[in-house]
Parts: sequence; structure tokens; C-alpha cells
Amino acid sequence: MSVSAARINLDAIRANVSALDSRAGTAQVMAVVKADGYGHGTLPAARAALDGGATWLGVAMADEALELRAAGIDAPTLAWLLGPNDDWAAVARADVDLSVNAGWALDRVVAAARGLGRPVRIHLKVDTGLGRAGAQPHDWPALVDAAAKAQADGMVDVVGVWSHLAYADSPSHPTIEAQRLAFEAALEVVAATDLDPPLRHLANSAATLVLPATHYDLVRPGVAIYGLSPGPDVGTTADLGLIPAMTFTSQIALTKRVPGGHGVSYGHRYTTEEETTLALVPLGYADGVPRHLTNVGAVAVNGRRYPIAGSVCMDQFVLDVGDDPITAGDDVVLFGPGTSGEPTATDWADAMGTINYEIVTRVGARVPRIYEGER
Ligand SMILES: *Cc1c(COP(=O)(O)O)cnc(C)c1O
Repeated sequence: MSVSAARINLDAIRANVSALDSRAGTAQVMAVVKADGYGHGTLPAARAALDGGATWLGVAMADEALELRAAGIDAPTLAWLLGPNDDWAAVARADVDLSVNAGWALDRVVAAARGLGRPVRIHLKVDTGLGRAGAQPHDWPALVDAAAKAQADGMVDVVGVWSHLAYADSPSHPTIEAQRLAFEAALEVVAATDLDPPLRHLANSAATLVLPATHYDLVRPGVAIYGLSPGPDVGTTADLGLIPAMTFTSQIALTKRVPGGHGVSYGHRYTTEEETTLALVPLGYADGVPRHLTNVGAVAVNGRRYPIAGSVCMDQFVLDVGDDPITAGDDVVLFGPGTSGEPTATDWADAMGTINYEIVTRVGARVPRIYEGER
């Protein structure tokens, strides 16, 4: 058994989803559990989110959707990132809704429906300005017409129309209202056909928390269900009433006294100033401790923070703990909710110039997840 672990507080996920559900008003909550539940574990995260009041689950990949179904989770689920060579029929057969961005995707869905002998549920996606997935406005009327024809033919059931925001984490950014208006225009194109999709959805975590005009019928929070703020302009975790669900822990593997002027780790990017104790933590970039934290990150040992000294390696990194009485076997908290002196995932992200999403999602496969609050 590894001495390191990512401890996942399932009560926190339940409470965060419940808080988001309150913010969402009458809109339903689709909990986004892609990418192994942002590193927290797909299935436990999905179950806790459903317990907390989510009525939908959202994933990117076909295999993520199939994993939910194989585990017996039958909540309504949307999968939105299948390519031409994914198995559309397998996902449709598993009763997972599919996002359709383009005519070729509609063709895949119709072929799947023929094979299944029943209509397949789809959500049409429009690009209202993000410039990522979704049909461009000039391609939208043709896609909508083709979907209306496929629905008249009994091949699809268009249950949703949706889009995604570029700047929801900057709540006063002008693109937000521009995207909302583009979404309204796309909905008008749909309204002029025989289609009457009950689910319009646009909001991610940030928009769920602070942009009520984007809530429509369903919101799609991801990072906030894991208790992380989507960004400083949205609010701190505490402002938003969220509880970080992941605590990344380990134990000191070795300590030793070294003289001043001693180089530390690959490339000697750190040198001790005076005689000191170095403490080795048995986690590295293979485990999701980013190499960019070299000399800029910190972790807590026995409730006190120490800076990472020198290069983060594949399996290990070093702390300069001075003359503090730290010994092998002492507890290390790499990041957590921040309530016991440890840094948060957001602190790590800020130190290295990325976002907290990337910190939790990259915790590696070698780190066991330990679940607390299981029902
Ligand atoms: C990942 C994702 C979300 C969730 O975004 P958060 O910022 O984590 O809330 C919602 N919708 C789509 C399309 C996504 O790709």
C-alpha cells in the first residue's frame, strides 16, 4: 500500500453540488465528471454528485460514458466529444445522449438509430463565440433543418440545444452577453422548425455561480463540484461556499543533515544557505507534482509549510526544513482545503502560472484514491 494518497471527501462533493443546485434556481444540474472526475474518480464523484442533487452527468469521451453505464449508473448523461471513428452506436445503445456539432455527426447518429431500431437522443451544439466545438452560426440553419428532418423520420429526438462560454470566469466580460444573444438567435432558428427541445444549456461552474442569465434549463458545473473556485474574479472558495474535496498526502521518506552550500536535486537549482535538514517526499511529476513547482511550490509537514527545494523529479522532490525536528515517516500534506496550514490546489496553480483544474486533474494513476464519506 502506497504511503501517498489523494483523499477524496465525498461529503464535500455532495455539499458543493447542493450549493450549486441552490444557485441554479429552477435549472437542473448536470455534474461534469469527465477526466476521471477531474482526478477525483469518475464513479465515486458521479454517485456523490447525484446524492447532492445533480440530475444529469456530463462527460467528454465515449469511454467515460460507457464506464458510468457499466457501473450501473443510469442517470441521464450527455457525452460531447466523439469523433468520426468513435463508436456512436455503443454510446447510443447505452442510453447516453450525444452532442451533435455537424452534419457528419448527425449521419453517425442516424446510422446508430437504424441499427438500434429507435430514435437517439441528441443535443445540438452551436458555437456562440468560444471558437471550439459547436456549429458556426452560418452552418447552424442547415444542421437544424437536417436534425428536424431526422426527427420527423423517427431517427433522433432533439432534446437539447447548447453552447459554451469563453469568459465565464471574467463575469463582466462583454463576450458573455454577446454569446448569450448569439445563443438566443440560435434558439430562434430552432423555434422556426418543428423541433421543441426542452433543454437549453450554456453555463459552466463560473456561470452557474455568478451569471444567472445563462442558467436556462440546465447548468453544467465541473470544477466547482470538486470545491474549487473557477477563478479569482468569480470569488474565493470561501466566498462561494465551496469545500475542496481533494487532499493530497504522503509521508517523508528520508531526512538528513547537509552542510551549507550543498546543491539539491537535478541541476542543483537550489543550494543550501547553511547547515540544514533536507527531507525527501516520495512523489514527483509522474504523480502530478508539476515540475514547474521547482523552487516555487510549498507543501505542509506536521502542519507547517516548507518550500520545494530544487527540481521536482519524476518520483520525488526535496524540502529544506531547516532545523525543525522532522523525521522519516512524518505526515506531508501537499495540498488540501487549506484549513490546517497546507496550501490549496489554487495556491499551487498560482505559484506556477496555471489553473487549479490542471492541478487536481493531473494527480497520477500511481496515487491511490481513498474515499471518505462513502455511503
Ligand atoms: C468541462 C466542461 C464544463 C465544466 O466546466 P467547469 O469550468 O469545470 O465548470 C462544462 N461544459 C463543457 C462543454 C465542458 O467541456
